[in-house]
Order: sequence, then C-alpha cells, then structure tokens
Amino acid sequence: MTESEDPSRERLKHHFAQRVIHQARQILEIWQRLQRSEWSSTDLSELSEANLRLLRFAERFEQPEHYQLAQDISQSLQAVDANRGRLSSQLITEINRLMQRLSRTGLRHGDQLEQTFLPPLRKPVYVALQDHDRAERLARQLEFFGLSAQALDSVATFKASMIERLPAAIVMDVDFNGPGVGLKLAAQAQEGLDQAIPLLFFSLLETDTPTRLAAVRAGGQEFLTGTLEASSLLEKIEVLTCVAQYDPYKVLIIDDSRAQALHTERLLNSAGIVTRTLIEPIQAMAELADFQPDLIILDMYMPACTGTELAKVIRHNDRYVSVPIIYLSAEDDLDKQLDAMSEGGDDFLTKPIKPRHLITTVRNRAARARNLKARMVRDSLTGLYNHTHILQLLEDCSFRARREGKPLSFAMLDIDHFKRVNDSHGHPMGDRVIKSLALFLKQRLRKTDFIGRYGGEEFAIVMPDTDIDAAYKVLDEIRQRFAEIHYPAQPQDLWCTFSAGVVEMSDESDSLVMASQADEALYRAKHAGRNRVQSARQSKQSATFSSESTDSVINV
Ligand code: GH3
Ligand code: MG
Ligand code: MG
Repeated sequence: MTESEDPSRERLKHHFAQRVIHQARQILEIWQRLQRSEWSSTDLSELSEANLRLLRFAERFEQPEHYQLAQDISQSLQAVDANRGRLSSQLITEINRLMQRLSRTGLRHGDQLEQTFLPPLRKPVYVALQDHDRAERLARQLEFFGLSAQALDSVATFKASMIERLPAAIVMDVDFNGPGVGLKLAAQAQEGLDQAIPLLFFSLLETDTPTRLAAVRAGGQEFLTGTLEASSLLEKIEVLTCVAQYDPYKVLIIDDSRAQALHTERLLNSAGIVTRTLIEPIQAMAELADFQPDLIILDMYMPACTGTELAKVIRHNDRYVSVPIIYLSAEDDLDKQLDAMSEGGDDFLTKPIKPRHLITTVRNRAARARNLKARMVRDSLTGLYNHTHILQLLEDCSFRARREGKPLSFAMLDIDHFKRVNDSHGHPMGDRVIKSLALFLKQRLRKTDFIGRYGGEEFAIVMPDTDIDAAYKVLDEIRQRFAEIHYPAQPQDLWCTFSAGVVEMSDESDSLVMASQADEALYRAKHAGRNRVQSARQSKQSATFSSESTDSVINV
C-alpha cells in the first residue's frame, strides 16, 4: 500500500487541514472588525499572533499557499510596526489584498486542490420559520452556497442553540411559534450581548407598519416578505455580516493645504479607511476615474476654484451623482454652509473636528452610498450588474489592464432559442432559467470576474488578468455543464444551451470596440449552429478566409 492510499494518514491530513482553515478564518474575522471600529494596538497584536499560528500550522501541515500568505501578512504587519503602529493607505490596501487572497485560498490535499474554497463564515446562520419544512429547505440551499445554516424548529431549540453557540446571523419569522412570538424571541436573544447579531425578519404575508416598527425596535436590519429566496437572502446576509465588504472604504481628499490633508488622512487611516489626497482640484475628474472613491472630502476655499464649483463639476458627470461630498472647512457662517450644501454637497463639517465625529460621518455616508450604489448598479431579477454598469466596469478594467500590462477578456452570452422556452413553458419558467444561469456563472467564475445581465437573456462577463485561451476554456466548460442541467417540467424536462462570443483586449481596442467584437463573435456562434463559444480572434481569421460566406450571412 502506498502512503497516499493509507486511509488513516488521509484522515489525519484532513484533520490538520481543518486546523489551517480554522486559523485562516480567525484572521479574517479579526480583519473584519477593523471595518467596524477603530484600530488599536491590541487588535494589531491579536492579528499578529493569529497569523503566527497560521504560519506554524501551514508549515507543519504542508499547505504552501497558506504558508506563503502568512509570511506576506507577517511582513506587512511588521511594516505597520515600523510605522509606529500606524496604518497607511498603502498598508491597508496591501493587507486587504492578502486577506482577500486568504479568503479564496483552496486547500491542497496531496496533489489535489480541494474543491471547496474557504467559506467566509465560520459561524452558522440560524433559520427559524413558522413553516419548518421551508426552513429546512432554505438552510440546505444556503449550505449549497457555502454558508453553514441550521433550521430550528422550536423556541426551546432556538434558546438552546443561542446558548451553545452564537450565530453569524438570525433569520426569524415574526410569527415563529405563534403570532408575534418570533419578534419577542429575537428581541430577547439580543439582550445582554456585547455585539448585536445581524437579524433578518421574515413575514409570509405583507404586514402593517406597527409590525415593521416592532421589528426595527427588536433590532431587525432587514424585513423580508413573500418568497424567501436563497440567493438574495445570501446577499443580504453577506452585507450584514460584512463578508462581502472586505473592501475598505476609499475617500478622496481634495484640499490645497497639504498639512490639513495629511491630518485628515491620518485620522481616516487609523480607522482602516484608504485615502488619497489631491492638492490640485483641477485634476479631480481624472483622479475620480482612477481611484473610484466611496466618498469625497472637499475643502471650501482653494486658489484654483471653490469647493462648491468643483462639487457642481463633479455632479455633472452621471457616474458621480451619488458619491457623497462632505465639505471640511473652517467656514462657520451657517448661511454659507447651507449654500454649499445646496450646491451638491451632502454634509458640512467645521474644523477643528473631533476624530470620532469625522470617522463616524465618513463611515455612515460611505456605507449608505455603497448600499445605494449596489441597488443602482444591479439587475433585480438576477442580482448581477446591469447593462450600464458592466460596460463601465469593462472600461475601468481595460484602463487598469493597459496600465499594468495585463491581459483582459470580455465575453457575451446569449441563451439559445429562448423564445421557445417562454412559448412552451411560460414566462416564469423563462425567468427561472435566466436566474439559474446567473447563479451558475457566479459559482463557476472567479471572484475577480465581473458578471452582468446585458439584456433579457444576454449576459456579459469581464475577466481581468485572463487571456483569450483561458477565457475560452472556462466559458466552454461552463457551456457544457450548463447544457447538462435539466429543469423539471411537463410534459417533459427542459434544458437550455447558450452561445458566447469572447474577445481579448488588444493594443488598439478600447472597451467599446471590445464590446462590439464580442457581440460579433456571438453572432457568428449563433450562425454556426448555436451552443458554442466563438473567440473573436478566430473569427477574424475565418473572415479573411471566407469573407464571401460571412457577407452573405450578414445580408440575411
Ligand atoms: P437565439 O438563439 O437566436 O438567441 O434565439 P432566442 O429566441 O433566444 O432570441 P430572441 O432574442 O429572438 O428572443 C429572446 C426572448 O427572450 C424574447 C423575450 O421574450 C425573452 N426574454 C427577454 N427577457 C426576458 C425575461 O426577463 N424573462 C423571460 N422569461 N423572457 C425574457
Ligand atoms: Mg437575445
Ligand atoms: Mg437568445
């Protein structure tokens, strides 16, 4: 018997691998805390110690990726130490990048990369619904998406579970175990806790304002009614538990006084907020496009232009209408402050300002803006990015890829003969297919890819750091797998295929050219018989060889 076949050795390795995972999660949880509170030196040493444990486990249990990451994290933390315990934008960004990689690192068992990636949440989600079967189903679906979830069937089990282990979040039916009982139960559960547990209320039927008010008073952060759908619930839970928001807030400071800007930067950095300073207001638009801040802090009086003038210019661009602008100035004339706010500003803070006041204002505004943006840029059926936004992302990514000299691919997908699905099985069935393809793409593509719903049954995918061969391979694999999904239907099961066109960025092509090339390739895929992926490079070749036949196709 060879070593790798020895089952007890395998079990042992698996057990140790779990320790590595557990340790990685602890580090991620400590890092997440920074998003909510100010960074203290104890947090830093806690993070260092947890990271050292990861380093030791990873070394002993032969997990090279984790080992390397732990070493890199350790280096960054030492840099913070060397900076007299101060975080800088650069360090926050660097540590965050490592944390994101840590959250995506798979485990290596022998030579095989384990399929499951590190689920972001260690603690379970408790699901308490009036209809227990439904709770069970929902819990299973959540687990399918990599969350740990537990359906609870009575007040007693709920209470026992809360004592045994605090969950990452609670999904509570307002009428769990009787009318209004769920509400009271959840409120009781929050009493005496150091930190409130994210709480989502559910009601089968649309309810009145007093019930919703009671839910808010009980600490409910979301109120869901009607069908409880796993994927949208998942998204809400991720937002509430901050898992989806590893990304630190980004703030652009525009101030002609370098000393003042530096002071503001220091305050914000200490709370884990990434900053960039602009001394020349004239460059604001270029800086905005490059940095994509969540919020702008603007000085009122600068030599080149006033803050209010600049705010107007920023607001003229559709992309930045909803980015909060906060004036930070010594101006204490209330009339002038009010004037400034009516000219595109959202808030006015007067110097000198208390650090906590500044940090809290920035955090709250930025959080709200992100939430709003998420609603604006997403498609409601699938939760994917909408048409406008995916094109903007393509533009941003091609800008970045060019600067960093990295490849970028873009793909367009269209479900084949989709009209027939609607015609023979009805519109709701069609919607289901669209949603399931969206989910399928989310699960199969990398976290760094961007997926959008381009139109009805069309999707668009931006793939940074991916050349056309890799993109083609991934898409073709997804195409084959998607065709294998059968949807139960009468009189017979239904299945669908899609066609795709994919293109890689070249020296000449900008994002608009890429989009039209991908579209063209998709068109060719359709004409070549559907259920296939066509790369734009191949289509260029075939165009030169058989321009006649393509012309005739276009003329049809
Ligand atoms: P092809 O293979 O050429 O793409 O054929 P097709 O039938 O998929 O293409 P066509 O563009 O002619 O039809 C798309 C259909 O998709 C028409 C429209 O009724 C349907 N559709 C668009 N958006 C939605 C939606 O949100 N839900 C549902 N159920 N159907 C949609
Ligand atoms: Mg179409
Ligand atoms: Mg179609």
